[in-house]
Amino acid sequence: MRITVDHDRCEGHGLCEEQAPEVYTLDDAGDVVHRFEGRDVPDELADAAERGATVCPVAALRVAN
Ligand code: SF4
Repeated sequence: MRITVDHDRCEGHGLCEEQAPEVYTLDDAGDVVHRFEGRDVPDELADAAERGATVCPVAALRVAN
């Protein structure tokens, strides 16, 4: 599973980080970053990655295999 971020959509409210801080965080500019850039999310964090994507109010996060 990989995470794709649409940075043009992200508004930096941090709901993804609240829901899954082990996957998502915000950078100093308030833009979302995740810990698995360019690589697969480990299986044990797949549910957390999906939870964070689901709560995003502007659909900036996509998770797919
Ligand atoms: S929940 Fe969505 S809009 Fe908010 S910081 Fe995360 S990716 Fe950005």
